[in-house]
Amino acid sequence: MTQFDSVEFADADLIVVGAGFYGMTIAERAASEGFKVVVLDKRDHIGGNAYSYVDSATGIEIHKYGPHVFHTNSEQIFAYLSKFTEWTPYEQRTWSLSKGRIYPLPINLATISLFNGRVMSPAEARAWVAETAREITEPRNLEEKAISLIGRPLYETFVKGYTLKQWQTDPRDLPAEIITRLPVRFNYDNRYFNDVYQCLPRDGYTPLFAKMCATRKIAVHLGVDWFDLPDHREPPAPVVYTGPIDRYFEFRFGVLGWRTVDLELETHEVDDFQGCPVMNYADADIPWTRISEFKHFHPQRAYGPRTVIAREFSRFAGEKDDPYYPINLVEDKARYNSYRELAREEKTVFFGGRLGTYRYLDMHQAIGAALSAWEKHLRPHLANGAPLELREAG
Ligand code: FAD
Ligand code: UDP
Repeated sequence: MTQFDSVEFADADLIVVGAGFYGMTIAERAASEGFKVVVLDKRDHIGGNAYSYVDSATGIEIHKYGPHVFHTNSEQIFAYLSKFTEWTPYEQRTWSLSKGRIYPLPINLATISLFNGRVMSPAEARAWVAETAREITEPRNLEEKAISLIGRPLYETFVKGYTLKQWQTDPRDLPAEIITRLPVRFNYDNRYFNDVYQCLPRDGYTPLFAKMCATRKIAVHLGVDWFDLPDHREPPAPVVYTGPIDRYFEFRFGVLGWRTVDLELETHEVDDFQGCPVMNYADADIPWTRISEFKHFHPQRAYGPRTVIAREFSRFAGEKDDPYYPINLVEDKARYNSYRELAREEKTVFFGGRLGTYRYLDMHQAIGAALSAWEKHLRPHLANGAPLELREAG
């Protein structure tokens, strides 16, 4: 077992728990300024949930924890990550299967025209949606927000069933922000994201992570759970902790609500299984939420005649599961606030990332938060001994 008396720990200026985008960005920044960093992850690989590997049977790059598409409007974040990878241009286009019919997502003019069985102009579509959305004026939850944006008929066709499967929670109890992740357009633009930069690492995510930590200043220990280290309450250096915040405090205020995802991989002896990278399944009676077909993320690669798909099944995360999506019900928010108060008392531990701050962060947001935390809190702490506190920006 890894011990604090190993040379790396004894020498470390900073310990980072979690080798996902948040932890690796902090580690890379610290190392670039000469600090010695130890990174730990309980998994047997770097990359956190963005980890991908090459399937040995087909040569196809598989995103182990579900499909990950990089997108951002931030030139700074794009430039930062570009130091570690070349890019392949890639714009996500998703389709939705509802009651035996195929529609483009996010909801756009083609979706609305197909749904109504006639060609509609942008103005006609807008007027139709406004009419069907009129019942909600002050949305207070996901269902009401969705209806206010797209009207009840589109909500019931594309959102209700999918959301029930994804969250197993009444959409009237879910926060409205979840649905605002999806754009609604009254033109034929069917890109899933609006962002200026949309791309995939040309050689895959894992080589990108490997390059981030390819320096003698960073020692990576895999397969090590922070809480299994006998002296983890008295670490020899400041700690950036990117695991679940409730676990850190031994669930003192109860468990925070998380969703996890089971991915069932299948290899098919066909060149093309579904004709697109991601197909969402809108109907509540189909148990999976979506199917990803990984070869379509890299059409420029010469993949062979077979294909690999992943069916995604969402469920509540138990104690042994990897938490993926914070549910953020009202009681979760109150609980998180209590944990955050405890976190403020930890003078040598900084909480960050999706799990450490109980936030629904995309990759660019995790990287952006880490860059900002490094500048505002961690570098001043390491360089000048400024106090280390969990802040909103963390
Ligand atoms: P993580 O990647 O979760 O890393 C945290 C790490 O900490 C993990 O590796 C974990 O093993 C480790 N850890 C936890 N506890 C301990 C412990 N006690 N000891 C040691 N190690 C520990 N973002 C996008 O931008 N685009 C997408 O298309 C996209 N798709 C997604 C699809 C799915 C299914 C999911 C779940 C997420 C998706 N995301 C996407 C979000 C993306 O995964 C996150 O933004 C990113 O992983 C956040 O990085 P992180 O470092 O905060 O957390
Ligand atoms: N959503 C939906 N139907 C879809 C896709 C998404 O109702 O076909 C809803 C669902 O509630 C989901 C939210 O929109 O949680 C955000 O979707 P996104 O694709 O951003 O979710 P991700 O899986 O990337 O977190």
